[in-house]
Amino acid sequence: MPELPEVETVVRGLRAALAGAVVAGARERFRGLVRGERGLLRRLGGLRVGAIERAGKFILVELGPPPARASGADPSSALGAPAAGRSQRGGHSCPPDSDPGAGQAAERGGHSRPPISGSRPGHARKDALAAPPGESRDPRVLLLLHLGMSGKLLLVPAAAPLAPHTHFVLRLAGGRELRFSDPRRFGRVALGRPGGAADPRRQIVPGREPLDIGAAEFARLFHGRAAAIKSLLLNQALLRGLGNIYADESLFRAGIAPRARHLSRARLERLRRAIRGVLQEAIAAGGSSIADYVASDGARGWFQTRHRVYGRAGRPCPRCGAPIRRIVLAGRGTHFCPRCQR
Ligand SMILES: [Zn+2]
Repeated sequence: MPELPEVETVVRGLRAALAGAVVAGARERFRGLVRGERGLLRRLGGLRVGAIERAGKFILVELGPPPARASGADPSSALGAPAAGRSQRGGHSCPPDSDPGAGQAAERGGHSRPPISGSRPGHARKDALAAPPGESRDPRVLLLLHLGMSGKLLLVPAAAPLAPHTHFVLRLAGGRELRFSDPRRFGRVALGRPGGAADPRRQIVPGREPLDIGAAEFARLFHGRAAAIKSLLLNQALLRGLGNIYADESLFRAGIAPRARHLSRARLERLRRAIRGVLQEAIAAGGSSIADYVASDGARGWFQTRHRVYGRAGRPCPRCGAPIRRIVLAGRGTHFCPRCQR
């Protein structure tokens, strides 16, 4: 299953491959797959790919009118400004606007901030509260993608044969297609206007970004909780995007047993740093091969990091040589070194 580093790797690949691309149309090949404002499926032609962001394991693609046709809520600044901000921040993070809670805030009736946006806050807020689908005046469309258990995005020439289980196709001017295939159908595709009733950002889970979270907030989230730390790490309402593999690897690096409870602040800080290190290494490893991946026929699977404990039950711990153990915790296979992790 793709976790945060894989999704980040896909997002970086898409940014490089789709910058400035113009949409020719879209096709839903599995009826009912596309959620949100389904009428937009037929109205994507001519829109230009703008910012592409990751929020947890969600991918958000902004489609906007080309500059010449721009009208209404200053879309030129919306397309330009966030991209510059992103590159300064190293590209791994989403803008502050797409933060947790943006969707929830909107549902509670207030203070929704568009994640990829230069639109006026008052405007967005009014739309979020009042506008029925299709009546947002924002000319942009947001395409939300979630790869689920088995989803893949492939960028291929339009003439390439369709892979099995290709459920959604975004046709691009110039003869390319972005194809979403998902054999197990846990993935998600949604369309909506920013600030509209079907704004897809409302589907994004509210947890914090594990790459961005600071020491104080990490401690606030986890300190004093009674549950096993591994279960807490998998809770997407706390941290979003961290899955089974990277939870196990991070706990190993931090020397913390998956069943440990009531961690001290010092151990929590070691864990926060371990999580960030593991994710950054995985992203760096994936980044080198992503151009191949996004452009290829999909034969290449998710890259494998050099796991130290995950999937290595019975084999020697790389640090002390004791056999790695596997238990089931929170319903998930959990790997750890009984000697190095306490
Ligand atoms: Zn060990």
